[in-house]
Amino acid sequence: MTSGATLQLNELQRYYDNFGAVRGVSLSLEAGQFLTLLGPSGSGKTTTLMMIAGFIEPTAGEILLNGQPVTHLEAHKRDIGMVFQNYALFPHMTVLDNVAFPLKMRKVPRAERLERAADFVRRVGLENFSHRYPVQLSGGQQQRVALARALVFSPSLVLMDEPLGALDRRLRLQMQEEIKNLQTELGLTVVYVTHDQEEALTMSDQVAVMENGRISCYGPPRTIYEKPDNRFVASFIGESNFVPCEIRQQFQGQALVRVGDTSDVRVVMGDDQDAGESVIFIRPERIHLCLETDSYQNKLSAQVVGEIYLGDASLFRVRLADGQEIRIKRPNRGIGLPIKTGEHCYVGWHVEDGILLRR
Ligand code: ATP
Repeated sequence: MTSGATLQLNELQRYYDNFGAVRGVSLSLEAGQFLTLLGPSGSGKTTTLMMIAGFIEPTAGEILLNGQPVTHLEAHKRDIGMVFQNYALFPHMTVLDNVAFPLKMRKVPRAERLERAADFVRRVGLENFSHRYPVQLSGGQQQRVALARALVFSPSLVLMDEPLGALDRRLRLQMQEEIKNLQTELGLTVVYVTHDQEEALTMSDQVAVMENGRISCYGPPRTIYEKPDNRFVASFIGESNFVPCEIRQQFQGQALVRVGDTSDVRVVMGDDQDAGESVIFIRPERIHLCLETDSYQNKLSAQVVGEIYLGDASLFRVRLADGQEIRIKRPNRGIGLPIKTGEHCYVGWHVEDGILLRR
């Protein structure tokens, strides 16, 4: 079942005097999709969300909901549900009345609105708390009320601004799963703002990484993580190694590059690569400690200089022959090469796991 609308942003901008908080954001979201705006503080995520909501007037550009322009429509006429980090519940109303409130504003008859509100209170697991007031609830419970209130009137679009930011990690993971289940079950179109890259990767159908008021990279989480468009995106999401190198030869989407003085390896060409200065981008879990005899397509001589125990995995700091350090993540399963700090080793990886990006 899909109840959500399609969303399109065309060259959306917001300037404050000469400062561009949002400097031309365009995207197209299908009905029932979950989009996350991810990016460092000040990159324009909230401003973009507030323009979609109708709380901030764009300086230029266009917003379409289900193909209809809503750019200058008043906020309350846009049929959008919102959830904020600070819950924003009405303190003098019970859980049930808070959830029923948007239906009251829409003049839904009393019996029907209480029935629909009770249904959503149950969906978020608060049926035994219906008659409590917000102050009598935990943070996680308050956020569930806010969620039910945002969804109860079947909005075309749901906007969430750091909704789980105030919760502890365990509760955050649980709420992520609950929000995702509700979104899928109800077919909601969601635009979600977060700082948390893990949250973005696990919840989204599409991720827009924002930088200085623009979208730096847009795509499904797997593509953003495994094939980032540029170094900013690669370094913003997950752990990364960037190994400076020099291009020797290029052929059919690949290149032969030199690391240090003498070692040549093969890499995949990234999208933003030109003839300028380059790095090999490689995730720590895609590079392996190995023996000289192991059959990796790329192999470099190295020395282990440190190990950090992470529980399920360990992170090895390894120095290459030219002096630069990289990080290698290895699951702690008791297999793999036994290796200690200070020992000489080799690091190996497959060609498709190393991507050439602009330095
Ligand atoms: P955060 O993750 O910290 O919430 P954000 O990505 O949501 O950041 P925005 O709140 O959208 O960023 O702000 C983007 C930029 O616009 C920031 O540099 C901010 O200082 C600036 N800005 C926002 N509102 C105003 C305003 N009313 N007047 C001037 N500048 C503003």
